[in-house]
Amino acid sequence: MPILEEKRVSLFIKREDKIHALISGNKYRKLKYNIERAKSDHFDTLLTFGGAYSNHVVATACAAKENGLRSIGIIRGEELASKWQKNHTLSMARELGMQLKFISRGEYRNKHLPQFINQLNSEFDTFYLLPEGGTNNLAVLGCQEILTQNDADFDVICSSVGTGGTIAGIINSSSSKQHLIGFPALKGDFLKEDICKFALKKNWELQTNFHFGGYAKTSTELIDFINDFKKHTQIPLDPIYTAKMMYGILRMVEAGKFKPETKILAIHTGGLQGIVGMNAILKKKNLPLINL
Ligand SMILES: *Cc1c(COP(=O)(O)O)cnc(C)c1O
Repeated sequence: MPILEEKRVSLFIKREDKIHALISGNKYRKLKYNIERAKSDHFDTLLTFGGAYSNHVVATACAAKENGLRSIGIIRGEELASKWQKNHTLSMARELGMQLKFISRGEYRNKHLPQFINQLNSEFDTFYLLPEGGTNNLAVLGCQEILTQNDADFDVICSSVGTGGTIAGIINSSSSKQHLIGFPALKGDFLKEDICKFALKKNWELQTNFHFGGYAKTSTELIDFINDFKKHTQIPLDPIYTAKMMYGILRMVEAGKFKPETKILAIHTGGLQGIVGMNAILKKKNLPLINL
């Protein structure tokens, strides 16, 4: 990338996407201690929530299977009940043995309420509950393992942000000299508070200008960026999270936001399973596709 040389900034990418094809990147980290807890507490079923393209749903289905647990996915959107077979993410989750239950968007909004959980408890046997996106204390603990001692030399560490659990873990295991930048993949002011619930340090900021219109929203510019980036680096980016972060980082480099000799580490949090689903949407709209 010529812009990095021009600005004399170095950029490394930590390939968490290579941990596992389906229990991808940060989702592996977030599930690790939750699965240990579910097993030590003698649960035989994981239950979680997600949308039709959720990396977390697939990761949970796969991790459950690999650990001899059953899994239940509560999926947003009743209309999917008749056409989940056409959805890459959901059919993969089903293939991995996940039982899918489709609920309306209205019901989905109430998923954290005790009445709703009680209803699930009467419908299904006991289960270990993972919140949407998988963020809880144990998930943050797992994400603290993303950085290791070998990463102590980096000045700046960048991560994509959904619920904020991943960056909270990274913040907690960073050194106070390091600066963390989170790139939210969605619009909203709630993220800062959510991160503060788990983060123990204040060495971080959010760059909120790179969400491309909101969660799962893309543009031809972003798709072109993904394809160009892959051509130059051979590194695939997902359109929901990591591409928005990488686009943001390079824009900030271009704008001279980093001093010369700054060493940046970007976390590739995975999410590549989502490309097929996104391409199906782009194809319907007659837009350029992401090269596989
Ligand atoms: C879920 C996800 C994120 C966001 O993680 P949070 O802990 O929810 O902030 C980032 N990148 C990828 C690829 C993801 O799948």
